[in-house]
Amino acid sequence: MAPRVLFATVYKRASEPYDYIGANTRSWFRFYWPRIQSFGLRFLKQNIPELEILEFPTWDEYCKKLEEGWDVVGISFYLNETHEALEMVKAARNAPVGEIWAGNYGALTPEIHEEFDKVFVGYAEQQVASYFGRQIKEIIHPPLIEYLNSPFGIKLNVYGIMFTTRGCPVGCKFCQTPVFCNKPNTISLKSIERLLAYYKEHGINVVLIEDENFGCNRRHADAVVELLDKYGMVWGCMARADYLRRMIDEWAEKRKRNGKRVSGFGGAAIGIENLHQERLDDIKKKEGTEDILETVHLLQKHGLGTVGYYMIGFEDDTRQSLKIDIPKLAALKLDITQICVLTPLPQTPLWNEIEEKYGIWDWDWHHYDGKNLVWNHPNIKPDEIPGILDWSFKQVYPWTMPLRTSARVWRGAFRYAGWAGVKEVASYISKANKFDFSQRRLLEA
Ligand code: SF4
Repeated sequence: MAPRVLFATVYKRASEPYDYIGANTRSWFRFYWPRIQSFGLRFLKQNIPELEILEFPTWDEYCKKLEEGWDVVGISFYLNETHEALEMVKAARNAPVGEIWAGNYGALTPEIHEEFDKVFVGYAEQQVASYFGRQIKEIIHPPLIEYLNSPFGIKLNVYGIMFTTRGCPVGCKFCQTPVFCNKPNTISLKSIERLLAYYKEHGINVVLIEDENFGCNRRHADAVVELLDKYGMVWGCMARADYLRRMIDEWAEKRKRNGKRVSGFGGAAIGIENLHQERLDDIKKKEGTEDILETVHLLQKHGLGTVGYYMIGFEDDTRQSLKIDIPKLAALKLDITQICVLTPLPQTPLWNEIEEKYGIWDWDWHHYDGKNLVWNHPNIKPDEIPGILDWSFKQVYPWTMPLRTSARVWRGAFRYAGWAGVKEVASYISKANKFDFSQRRLLEA
């Protein structure tokens, strides 16, 4: 008999879904992407159908599931969810289950390894398949369909998530991705085309590429863009500025040539990290501030969407220096600006450096979410951070910001495809609100 294996995310602490936009904007700005599925668990289930998955259960749902009897329970969690994961381990030991496994970024913390029977680092489909006595020849990408919700409960868009490579080799010293997976796994073009055909068949025209570093395999990325064009998708990606800068003009030009459709490249998310070159050098970003800013301006010149990731709390930061830096960041007028506090993460070079030089004082893993100061900063006190973040978000999100972004979207639709483009973008709202999200199945074998 095949072993009974259950993989679960951490249980939901509140009825509210995690609100990425809410965590990175001002309180009145209630657009959000509900966290309705676990990408990692969907990849596992798509490729190893023998196992069961449980996404964001309540505590009672999880305990009830444990009663079914399992040989293995795997828990997939992030660092700031460690406390909940350990509570789930305790319940699983009491059930009792045979073995308890840990996966996802939370599993990188050495201090908790002894709580688990097995710890998986990186994308684990192959390792888990071997538990069932087989190998996976080619990773199949599951459909990952999500929506953007508005403050009025009206869904603004439905879109498909896509990964073309997973992992990153760059080695920025604050980032856990190279620890998790420093040799990017490439999803085959065949698997990507199958996914795009599925999205198209279900009326989804917008694709977000969530690779940590789209373009790290340039030839593959170029072939993916060809496929996106073939399926007439509007798409955006997370990428480094150096790759984007070479491609933006070409992609924008292609979009114009599409004529009566708005399909094509719609914008990108970029790690700006900081506006001071010496800090980028220190964190081993291997990019120039001027080059990053030039990429942002190039995107804006073509009327494309911009998301920027920024960090505060470097050792030289003071309240006064942030009063100068944040208005400069706000002057970039990005559509979304994520501001995080520099946080040492387990197994990164930054962790060792901060621990040795200043010391880490806060061991409550809930606070490792990029919104807290968990180490002894020489110039800023932890309790000053909420005020600094609140003030910073006020600078980057003036009340005119939603109007600014809406105007850019409609102007862009008209610029690339005239009134047909405007009509097409308007149709996304009605499509999103009619979409049956219970259709979020896996691909047939
Ligand atoms: S910050 Fe981005 S580029 Fe740097 S290592 Fe992490 S994923 Fe790679």
